[in-house]
Amino acid sequence: MDTPRFVSNIIEPKMVIEGAGVLLRRSIAPSRANLFDPFLLFDHFAFNDPIEGPIRGFPMHPHRGIETVTYMLEGSVNHRDSLGNAGLIGPGDVQWMTSGRGILHEEMPRRSPDGNIYGFQLWVNLPAALKMSQPRYQEVNADSIPSVQVDGATIRIVAGEVAGMSGPVTEIAANPIYMDVQLEPGVSFVQSIPGGHTAVAYVFDGRGDFGLDQAGRGERVEAVRMAIFGDGDHLKVRAAPDSQVRFMLMAGAPFREPIVPYGPFVMNTTLEIQQALDDLRNGTFVQELTITG
Ligand code: MN
Repeated sequence: MDTPRFVSNIIEPKMVIEGAGVLLRRSIAPSRANLFDPFLLFDHFAFNDPIEGPIRGFPMHPHRGIETVTYMLEGSVNHRDSLGNAGLIGPGDVQWMTSGRGILHEEMPRRSPDGNIYGFQLWVNLPAALKMSQPRYQEVNADSIPSVQVDGATIRIVAGEVAGMSGPVTEIAANPIYMDVQLEPGVSFVQSIPGGHTAVAYVFDGRGDFGLDQAGRGERVEAVRMAIFGDGDHLKVRAAPDSQVRFMLMAGAPFREPIVPYGPFVMNTTLEIQQALDDLRNGTFVQELTITG
């Protein structure tokens, strides 16, 4: 490990309204420019203000060609889908949903006993060869997510590896790292990340110095912001001397394919988007399992 990754850009999330009127902080939005390949979208939902009124959710909607990753910290999300799956994503839980050729699902947030909802949804692209694959879920309960605690650092590993421990989500095309990192004031964290992979950190609590060089100098990033890293083989973060810092760290291998996003679909060509819309109209979007022989 000798090439540190520096911060190349800092993104301020935009407030957007999605679903049936859900207010979100969005840092990455699907776009043909595909600047964060393999990551397509990153949303942060935090409802803790009475001003937001009744909770609205995401009624039945389709996905094709992507993976959606829901990670909850407070409150929960009730979900059900066209394949007959249903369940509750609670605090600390993860749902890694590979839509493949298509699912229709509903995602309805519920407040915690304190009245809060706090979580993230990440969209990860699928390569052309897997966009029409069978849908698949990896649902992970909070207590099955390893938590590494060393010297003032607490790291929950959803996917990837820290200190010889691996996250429970595996066999994802983008070969991702996805972890929730919390550092006490002044504490440092180093993570190796393969060269050429995209790496970003979503800072949602406190502040710290990101992308430290060998001399320990970095870019100060304060919640709520997303830091984008340049290339290298590792990255280093240090919490500010007077503040803890908490962030979601994401990294993954880019597919370097053209993409055409259209609402909840991300395909490689406009023809494939047209096909998705035709399939929805014709009732052939969700493929029944056919048993032959
Ligand atoms: Mn969805």
